[in-house]
Amino acid sequence: MIWIDIRDRYGITQLIFDEERTPQNVFEKAKTLGREFVIQVTGTVIERESKNKNIPTGDIEILVTDLHVLNTATLPPFTIEDNTDGGEDIRMKYRYLDIRRNPVKDKLIFRHQVAMQVRNYLSQQGFIEVETPYLIKSTPEGARDFVVPSRMNEGQFYALPQSPQTFKQLLMVGGMDRYFQIVKCFRDEDLRADRQPEFTQIDCEMTFVEQEDILGIFEKLTTHLLKEIKGVSVDTFPRMTYADAMRKYGNDKPDIRFGMEFGELNDVAKGKGFNVFDAQELIVGIAVPGASEYTRKQIDAIIDWVKRPQIGANGLVWVKYHTDGTLKSSVDKFYSEEDLAQWASATGASPGDLILVMAGGADKTRTQLSALRMEMAERLGLRKADEFAPLWVVDFPLLEWDEDTARYHAMHHPFTSPKPEDIALLDTDPGNVRANAYDLVLNGNEIGGGSVRIHDSALQARMFELLGFTKEQAEAQFGFLMNAFQYGAPPHAGIAFGFDRLVAILGGQEIIRDFIAFPKNNAGRDVMINAPATIDQEQLDELHLVVKS
Ligand code: ASP
Repeated sequence: MIWIDIRDRYGITQLIFDEERTPQNVFEKAKTLGREFVIQVTGTVIERESKNKNIPTGDIEILVTDLHVLNTATLPPFTIEDNTDGGEDIRMKYRYLDIRRNPVKDKLIFRHQVAMQVRNYLSQQGFIEVETPYLIKSTPEGARDFVVPSRMNEGQFYALPQSPQTFKQLLMVGGMDRYFQIVKCFRDEDLRADRQPEFTQIDCEMTFVEQEDILGIFEKLTTHLLKEIKGVSVDTFPRMTYADAMRKYGNDKPDIRFGMEFGELNDVAKGKGFNVFDAQELIVGIAVPGASEYTRKQIDAIIDWVKRPQIGANGLVWVKYHTDGTLKSSVDKFYSEEDLAQWASATGASPGDLILVMAGGADKTRTQLSALRMEMAERLGLRKADEFAPLWVVDFPLLEWDEDTARYHAMHHPFTSPKPEDIALLDTDPGNVRANAYDLVLNGNEIGGGSVRIHDSALQARMFELLGFTKEQAEAQFGFLMNAFQYGAPPHAGIAFGFDRLVAILGGQEIIRDFIAFPKNNAGRDVMINAPATIDQEQLDELHLVVKS
């Protein structure tokens, strides 16, 4: 007897070739089959003698009476099984083989299901999916553009959209009222782990709405997805201002599934003779739950972790709040137990907690402590994949000062409207103007972001001026939009979700690459087709390009 598993998208079924019951020539042919051959068989479904309860077709097998080899196969470079022996690189190179494996295939099917839910839900709410062009002019979303040379227009280039931002706004001027699109966006950013140069957004825009309407509708979309896909019910989403998020979590996308809120210690830790602290702008700590009995070795490991160049801290101060209520710290020389009790109350620590304290420049220290907070939560298993804690972060600053270029940048993008009550500050104190901008955060990830837009050409022109554009530059780059605003532009607002990340989080994972059929690696390369690549001289000439060597 010969047993062979056949596999397709729907699963595995066992074939049986039996010398007694299968025709001789078919039986002989079965002996020549190899892994991953593509075959066609005819036979009878029969009950299996020894059943396999682990697979859905485990009760039956097919007694084969005829066999055709539709294609032979070279031995694959790794095993096509759920637990493969293939490393990441080799699987990326042979991605089409990787897709035959359940863990990859299932994620692509899952992605399709999420996309269908989004399309159906938004369509039911009256949104229309409209495609916008890919060969456009720069849309600033804070990254560099990928550009495409124009053969027919020497020296001229299209830019690939960083997002369909200006087009969706023009659709609103065009009266489309409710638009969405599941759309590719392209950003030439410096490499960061798990960033794809091309990625997908659920891009949305609406007219005659205010911030509150957008938050309401897209909160409902998110609740719908959590319910339909995860079976999880989430009520209203809490809201937090950007300023609070930075102060309490050192981060504009806080994971609120667990506590460890920042406690500021300037008032209670300065002036006690500990010079290291006295000179610092900010002293801030967190209470790590249940970690008061950490050993010297465990604490040293945390200190080493914050000293890594990625975090870049000089060290940290710790306080053990023992379960018997006593307090012991690494700076006992300078602080009495009463002092430390004040630290405990500022960080919200209870007996049994370990307080970790960092100090330095305010922004940098908050960022470092935020990273430590996430790391400790990870180590303590507090970032549970089956728990979902969405949050709106609102009231972002409109502008952000950039030291390198010594000018303001739009924190969201230049089309975002200031809060009406802050407009007067545009002239006097632009850095303190708040925007009608919002981010949707889920489990410490920004899954969506958007804003109420400027719909008045004079205000839009003022914004470009603040961002350092000359009148001519603004006109050349965005004249089309400011022009459009002169033809009766309705108030409008929108949002875009990062679809790859949303799918990954709903799938209980954080690596977005796994949910993309043909992803690029961390160096932005497609190692399967080997792109980017050089092009030949003829093509360069046609495009009027000269490559400097
Ligand atoms: N275009 C924005 C982005 O890509 C989203 C929005 O403002 O709607 O982040």
